[in-house]
Amino acid sequence: MVLMFNKHRTRIVAAMSALTLALGLASCSDSSDDSKGGSSGKLKVAASFYPIQWLTQQIGGDHVDVSSVTPAGTEPHEFEISTKQIAELNKTKALFYVKGFQPSLDDAVGSLSDVSAVDLTKNVNLVRHEGLLEHEHDHGDKKDGEAKKDDEEKGHEDGKEHDHAEGHDHGDDAADPHFWLDPARMKRAADAITAELSKKDPGHADAYKKNNEALQKKLDGLDKSFQTGLATCERRSIVTTHTAFGYLADRYKLSQVGLSGIDPESEPSPATLAKVKKYVQENGTTTIFTEELVSGKPAETLAKETKTVTAVLSPLESKPEKGDYEAAMTDNLTALKKALACK
Ligand SMILES: [Zn+2]
Repeated sequence: MVLMFNKHRTRIVAAMSALTLALGLASCSDSSDDSKGGSSGKLKVAASFYPIQWLTQQIGGDHVDVSSVTPAGTEPHEFEISTKQIAELNKTKALFYVKGFQPSLDDAVGSLSDVSAVDLTKNVNLVRHEGLLEHEHDHGDKKDGEAKKDDEEKGHEDGKEHDHAEGHDHGDDAADPHFWLDPARMKRAADAITAELSKKDPGHADAYKKNNEALQKKLDGLDKSFQTGLATCERRSIVTTHTAFGYLADRYKLSQVGLSGIDPESEPSPATLAKVKKYVQENGTTTIFTEELVSGKPAETLAKETKTVTAVLSPLESKPEKGDYEAAMTDNLTALKKALACK
């Protein structure tokens, strides 16, 4: 499996002093120091890419101006941050990001000054996921990924008992960063964002709390519709373009096989393609899932060879063309129900 995690990096969190914060907030009428507050008087923060931006906007509402470091329509895994963007980032008060997901941004975090960099992986209990059929201990012989699920569930239990206190390092090579496809983990990330926004802008803490409560309900609703929608299905295994759906598969008891691994840039090898083809045939898979920002060629070739169809399953790695995170997740559920013949 190709992994893209860089070595552990030093995370510098620049804590704002209460005095600086007070000056920043008082600067609405004083343009000399509105670079961090924004000319609108809103708290200026950044999110590394779309799902985190969406979360932060939901919580910040009208009081926060949230930019996305990764531009819309850009595949975030391989995104390279520019010097100009680092300068822009330095004008914000906080950055919410997913350490280990975008190495270029991980590097930039070390050079930020006076920006609180909040690594959300500390709050969401990342675990390892397999999902490629290229290893000796692969899951290709299993009709329904039963043993694989057992392993993953065990992994979860272990993870829960882990202490995720500040300073606990999740930079281990194989942790899967794609937590945003699990609504329950999104709730925990939302709590961390709420805490940071309230710290930076205590005057609006009540609003952030209230917005977060509404967001938690929204994510609960999404979780419930996935639970219900995927409860009774003819099939429970999905074939995806890259293995972005490990947490979603864990949560809703599906098993995932990817044409590429955690990093979509790695092209599937002929051996992997042959194994996935065998898997598709043995499992009665009807649909090969593609995604918006990665070439659908291997998926289309596979679909042709196995007389199956392709359909989009969004890994939510960029802003959807229409709607938002919630709408795209709902579309994902519809696509899954159709592919798996759920009642
Ligand atoms: Zn991904």
